[in-house]
This record gives sequence, structure tokens and C-alpha cells, in this order.
Amino acid sequence: MLRAAARALVALTAALGATGGALAGAIGDKVFEIEAQFGSQPGQVIERLRPLEAGARAGDTDDLRIFLAAWGYAHASIDKPSVAEAAVEELTDLGERLHDPAALASAYTLKAAMLSFSGQVRAAFGWVESALPLADKVPSPDLQYWVDMMAADMATSNGHLDEGVRMYEAAVVAARRGRNPRREAQAYLGLVPLHIVKGQLGVALRQAALVRELGARTTDPSLRISSWVLEALAADAQGDTRRSERARREAQNATLAALVEAPAGPQVPVNSQAGGDGWMGTEVDALLTLSALHQSAGNFGAARDLALRARTQAQAQNDDAHLAVALVNIGLADIRMGHIQQGMALANDGLARMGSRKRDAELLIQLNRYVAALERSGETSESWLRLRDALMLETELARRDRRSTVIELQRESSFQQRQRELDQLEHQNALQAAEIGRRAMERTLSLLLAAAMGLGGVVAWRLYLRARKANRQLALNNEALEFASHHDAVTGLLNRRAMEAHTTALHGQPYCNVSISVKQFGLIVGSVGHQQGDQLLCQIAGRLDAVARRHDATLYRVDGVTFGAIFRCAEGDTQRVRTVLQALAEAMEVPFEVGNQDLIVSIGAGAAHCPTDAPTAHEVARLAELAKLRTHAEPGNTHVLYDARIGESQHDKLHMEARMAKALEQGGFELYYQGQRSMADGRFCGFEALLRWHDGGKMVSPAQFIPLAEESGLIVRIGAWVLQQGCQQAKAWADAGFGAVKVAVNISPRQFNHPDFLATVRRTLQATGVDPAQIELEITEGSVMDAAEASIAQLHALRELGLQLSIDDFGTGYASLSYLRRFPLTRLKIDRSFVSQLGASAQDDTIVRTVIGLAHGLGLAVTAEGVETPAQEAMLQSWHCDVVQGFLHSRPAPAATATQLLVAEREALLQAAEA
Ligand code: C2E
Ligand code: CA
Ligand code: CA
Repeated sequence: MLRAAARALVALTAALGATGGALAGAIGDKVFEIEAQFGSQPGQVIERLRPLEAGARAGDTDDLRIFLAAWGYAHASIDKPSVAEAAVEELTDLGERLHDPAALASAYTLKAAMLSFSGQVRAAFGWVESALPLADKVPSPDLQYWVDMMAADMATSNGHLDEGVRMYEAAVVAARRGRNPRREAQAYLGLVPLHIVKGQLGVALRQAALVRELGARTTDPSLRISSWVLEALAADAQGDTRRSERARREAQNATLAALVEAPAGPQVPVNSQAGGDGWMGTEVDALLTLSALHQSAGNFGAARDLALRARTQAQAQNDDAHLAVALVNIGLADIRMGHIQQGMALANDGLARMGSRKRDAELLIQLNRYVAALERSGETSESWLRLRDALMLETELARRDRRSTVIELQRESSFQQRQRELDQLEHQNALQAAEIGRRAMERTLSLLLAAAMGLGGVVAWRLYLRARKANRQLALNNEALEFASHHDAVTGLLNRRAMEAHTTALHGQPYCNVSISVKQFGLIVGSVGHQQGDQLLCQIAGRLDAVARRHDATLYRVDGVTFGAIFRCAEGDTQRVRTVLQALAEAMEVPFEVGNQDLIVSIGAGAAHCPTDAPTAHEVARLAELAKLRTHAEPGNTHVLYDARIGESQHDKLHMEARMAKALEQGGFELYYQGQRSMADGRFCGFEALLRWHDGGKMVSPAQFIPLAEESGLIVRIGAWVLQQGCQQAKAWADAGFGAVKVAVNISPRQFNHPDFLATVRRTLQATGVDPAQIELEITEGSVMDAAEASIAQLHALRELGLQLSIDDFGTGYASLSYLRRFPLTRLKIDRSFVSQLGASAQDDTIVRTVIGLAHGLGLAVTAEGVETPAQEAMLQSWHCDVVQGFLHSRPAPAATATQLLVAEREALLQAAEA
């Protein structure tokens, strides 16, 4: 997995919204300094930030925001999530109260960092995606850099390498804007492994050199080391042994030099996801990073090879920590390649080693990855088992963290939110203490009881009674504590924990989650004072609760000024949702009376539905919050129902991606065929294969899912399936005596550029036994323009296999005909947008006519797409266009329908011959 996130620690601190110079106050500047010096050592950062807290709280919002983000991030990276969580809450509160996008962006990015540090990279992606548009609103290169880096990390960890590249590149730009060579180097450092994985080794080598060049302008030796390590691996991949050996030597020298200069002092263990000094500082570490990247990109073979190399090196160096991770990586790759048993054995071995080394945060990360891999391979029972382990470990880590954090929290100011958190912690600790006490007592009593049996019945009986009484009392106490732990002390409402328990207990029944915030509560409290603030909050809670009860909903106080409501609700019943939201808003219309003032309060509410909007309680809650955020821009009581546009978020994408992967395995895809008619004899000479997805009863258009499949890389597998089906169908038609009917198959850019593409084509041709001349690959200009030379070679190879090659959507891209001359093509397809304008635009007429003439001059056949009217067809015919395709003669339809077309044609021909 990638750990660039943490390298951004650097950024973060600065980022936290201040833009340097004018905006950064005295505190901001100090944080900058700390960042520059101790960026990769969170322990040091915390020590130096501590004395700044009082000043930050007394200063302006920028100061506080900078401080909180740095403070939270540093704690998150040494696995102290409680403090980080408190910072997230305070930042959110700050952002909501003051409508400060920088504070919200910081809150979400910090939240994403925390999640990623425990291996929950999917959830993390969702949060950082919410931060991106907010960061765009702030003219701060610091904040932008942090968010971009985080987004880049999370994108790559989720397998979206191209998006990762884009975001790292954006981070480069932000770093440059902020004139910070160290950050720029770190952003490049994120890019290098991606380019290696994508096989763009030249770029990787150039950027590794850039890292060094920029690194030389900083005092950070780790940049130098990492860049040499990566250069060695890139050179390896290129087969340039001399270069890789030299790079390895340089890496060693740089490591030695850094050791000599290293500052002495206590080292705090840093979460592996948070990077720190060691990130990619050794070859083993870099190999594992590359392996994880390949794994998330779906290149399981490569992932396995690299992990095997890492294992060998780790063994040779007696490096148990990396050995364990290597074993897990090999195991995960095996599982995804279908060697389930072998993979599970290896992964379990690795996990057990981690467990025995007490590296629990690392173990949690790897457990979560393991669970994800098992889920994807359909190993449900083992994945559930391991998920339970992961959850238990997470709870245990949280508990340990809380115990040590409680003291720290006590020392801090009694900011209301914190106070509540503290209360809850006390409840929990009391519960645990009581439980432990009860067990101990039971044990003692039963020992005594056993001993007393020997003394005589009376004594024993008395002891027994006493034990029962004590136990009853304890049970009562526990009930009271149990109540306290599910209720909010200020309003008496159920609390967040109760809400979570409730949604779990719904067991998949459809329900709606509403998130409600009081707008500008901070300002109101500022004017009436804290005590009255609590009173007001209670009154608000009372009114909301009354409305909720009237509508069979349950109200919760989630935290601070946020309430939540849960109610059962059928899928698609938006009317009910709106009624409830409307009623909640109406409850605010009458002013509140506090002290002897009338106060007007507005709420913003967001609603999301389970399972319509998302399948899990956790995600639905997040979507409801996202929807609620939309309400804050407008004054007054407002509400927003979550819809897909809001959630253009990654979660939906991931969801869709998962469904596509499933469809691929379970036959959810089908090929439709659209006839292509030859102008020479008016007969169907071929069909274009067009993909259709039957997604739970509805038919999804390829325009909707191909782009996502392309982005996620799934297109490679889908495309292989399409090719195989298309070849089979062509062969079936030939076998049925229809002659060499052609089948045109669309090839996406990512598929075309995949290293295995040629091999896949060759294998498919062999396996299906189709005559290659029947198959035409439709390639877009975009596929071949990027790496023109390599593409030309591949196109030649495809032609040598006997395939036809056409260029699709001609006229929409940037290729010129003279450019195309260099490609060994057989056909050109004129895009629909030109054809539809025929007769309407003289200019388009000329273009189409000229293109047909020039194409013929280059020896290419021409197909016109999207022919809908006889008039269009007539014009095309007069210009000697070879083939027309469009709704005029044939709409895309299942294979059986296409076959009927061929049958009808053959019969008509036979009749004509007889007559
Ligand atoms: P395309 O390759 O340009 O395919 C032609 C599209 O135009 C098809 O839409 C087809 O239904 C539509 N079309 C054909 N004749 C007419 C007409 O007379 N009028 C109008 N208005 N439309 C017409 P479809 O099937 O929705 O496919 C959309 C795009 O999805 C395709 O554009 C292609 O880029 C992509 N696609 C479809 N199947 C595959 C596939 O198997 N693999 C890949 N990589 N992409 C595919
Ligand atoms: Ca096409
Ligand atoms: Ca087309």
C-alpha cells in the first residue's frame, strides 16, 4: 500500500489552511518551522506542537485550524486515533460554524488519513473525495497539496492508478506554487512507483532523478535514498543491470551517510501507512510498495513476483517485519489468482508472524486487506471470520488508545464536545471495571463457597446469599451504566452509539438516515452564554424528538450540534422522507425562549436511504452527512435528499465496480449486434458487437459503465470476454453457412495498451478457431496516439495475425489523415456526429465527402456510423461510401435477432434466384 499520505505530514501542517505569508499567524509560522525540520518524525512534531496549543486556542481560526490538523495528523500517525478523532470533530465544528471550507477540508482529509492508517482505504477514499471540492475553494497551495497527496494515495490504494497519477501531478503543481521543493520531491516520489507499475520506465527514471535534484535543496536525506532505491527497481525492470547496480550502490551510500548524520533521541513507532523516514528507504520496502500497487491494479502475477523478491531479500536480511508483509502479499496475490488454499496458508503465516511481533496497527491493516481479497474471491466464511478478528483488534487498539488518552484529555480545556467524550469514556471504563470486578468476586466467592462446604451448611448458605445479593447489586449498577452509555447526558436523547446499534439491529430492513445540524449554533451560544446554550439545545432536542415520535422515527444526539434520526421507510418512498424533513423544519418555526430572549434557530437536514443509496449503515450515515453539508450554503431551514449527483462520490463508483465484477462472473453481460450494410450489394456484410449490462432488471448503457470500467481497469477483463464472445459468434455464423460475416469488436484504450493484450488476442483466436479475417478491431484515436511508436508495432502484429483494424469515431479526435497513414489500418469509421448533420450543414457534407475520398486514396474502406434516414444513405452512396451502419437498417439487438436478419436475407436471395 502507498504511504505517501504521511509523507504529506509535511504539507499538512502548513496546509491547514493558512496560505503562508499574509494569512499565517505567528502560530502558523511556527508550525511551518516544525514541519520543515521534523516532518517525518511525528513524535518530535507532537513534542514541539504541545506548547503551541494554548496560543492556538487563544488566536484566530486559522491558527487553531493549523494547529488542530497538525496535532491530529501527528497523533494519527503514531496510532493514537482518539486525539485525532477529537481534532476531526473540532475541525468539523469549526468548519460548520464558520462556513470555513478549509477547516472542513482539513477535517475530512484528517479523517481519511486515520482510516487509511488502519487499512480502511475504501472508506478513506470517500472522505478525501469530499475534501477535494472544498480545498478547491481555498486559495491555499498548502491545503491543496495535502488534499491532493492524500487523494493520490487513496486513489492508488484503491487501484485507480490513472487518477493517482493525476492527483500526484496536481500535488506537484501545488507544491511548486507554494515554492516548496521538498513537497514537490515527495509528490514525484509518489509518481515514480506508479510509472514503474505502468511500465513507463523512462518517465519513472526521469522523475526519480528529479526527486534527487529537488531533494538536494532540502536537508532531508530520505528523499535521496528513496529515489536511488526506485531507480534501481526501474532499471531492473528495464533490464539495465549496470544502471541498477550503480543505483543500488548510491542508495547504500546515501543510507550510510544518513545514519551518520541521524539525530539521536527516542524514536516513536510510526504507523507504516504514515511513512516517516523509512518509507521506501530500502529495496524490500519499495518492492512491497510496488507489489501492493500491482495488487490493487489487478496485476496479480506481477504483484506476486515482486513480493517473492521481497521475501527472498527479507529472509536474507533476517528482516522479520518485512518478511511477514511479503508473505501476506504473496498470499493475497495467490488468492486473487484462484490459488485460494495456498494463498490463505501464506497469508495466515504472515499474519501470525505479525501477531507475534505485537505490531498490531500493521496487523490490522493487513487483516483488512486480507478480508477484502477474500471477499472479492467469494471466500465468505473465512472472510467473515477474519473480519471479526479485524474488528476485535480495532476495538482493542481503540481501548488501549483511550486508556492512555483519557489522562491527556483531562488536561485539556473543557470544550463541550470533549467533555462529552470524556463522560463516555468514563462510562465505558466504569463498565469494564465493574465487569472485571464482578468476575473477580465470583471467583473468590466460589472458592470460599467450596471451602465453606467443608465447614458446614449454615455458613455456606449465608455466603451464597451474600454472593447473590452482591451480584444483583452489580447487575443493577451495570444497567445504570448501560443506560448512561447509550444516552446523551445533556439532552437525555439516545446517543451515537445507540444509533449505530439501532441500524445494525435493523438487519437489512430498508430505512432512512437523517443527519440534522443546528446552523450557526456557535454564534448563538456566543451571544447567550454556555449554560443557556445547553438549555436551548435541550429545547431543540425536545421539539425534534416530538416530531420524530409522531412520525415513527427515533431521534439521537450524534455529537455537538448534530442530531440523527432513523426511521423505517420503503425503497423509493421519497414522499415519506420529505414529509418527515418538512415536519422537522416546521418545528423550528416558532422562536425558542431562553432566559428572556426569543431565539430563532434554523436547521439543515440531509437524508439518505439504506439500501437505495448505499448498502451499509456506515455508508448511509456518511451520505446523509454529505447531503446535509449541501444545506449549509443556504440560510433558513433547508433539507436535501441524497441523490447520485451528490454522491458522484467514489462509494457509488466502487459499488458499481463491484457489481460489474460480479456481472462478469455471473453472466450479467450480453453482446448485442448491429448490422453493417454494404453499399455495393445492399447486404449485411458484418455486425458491430455492442456490450449490454443487465443490472438487476434494468439495462445499463455502455456509455454509463464503460468509462468507469476503463478507469478501474476492469475493462481489461470485460474486453477479453467481449472479444471471446464476438469470435465465437463469428465462427458460429461461418459454420452455419452464412459466409465470412464480419464481427467488429470495440477495444478500449486501456485494453489496447495493456501489456497482455496481444497475447490475449492470439489466445482467443486459437481457442475459438475463428477465421481472423472475420474479426475487425475498432480502435479509437486516443488508444494509439499516446505511445505512437509502440502502438504502430502492436498494430502491425495484429495485422499479421490476420485481423482487420478500423479507426472508430473518426473526426472526433485529433488524428489527421496523413498521420493515420503511418498506421496499418484497414478501415475508417466516420463518426455519427458528422453523419447526422448531412444535408443540414454544407461544411459537414464537404468534410464527409473529402474524408471518404482521402481514405480511399490511402487504401482504407469507409463505414459511416449512425445512418438514420434514406436521404443520408443516398448522399453517402453518391460519394462511394462502402458500408453504412445505423438505425435505418438495423438497431443493436441480441445475437438471435442478428441471425434472423441473415436468414431472411439468404431466403430472399434464394427466392430471387428461383424467380
Ligand atoms: P460506438 O463504438 O460509437 O458505437 C456506436 C453507438 O452508436 C452504439 O451505442 C449504437 O447503439 C449507437 N448507434 C448506432 N446507430 C445509431 C443511429 O443510427 N443513431 C443513433 N442515435 N445511435 C446509433 P451504444 O451501444 O450505446 O454504445 C456506446 C459506446 O459504448 C460505443 O460507441 C462504444 O464506444 C462503447 N462500447 C459499446 N460496446 C463496447 C465494448 O464491447 N467494448 C468497449 N470498449 N466499448 C464498447
Ligand atoms: Ca464502435
Ligand atoms: Ca463509433
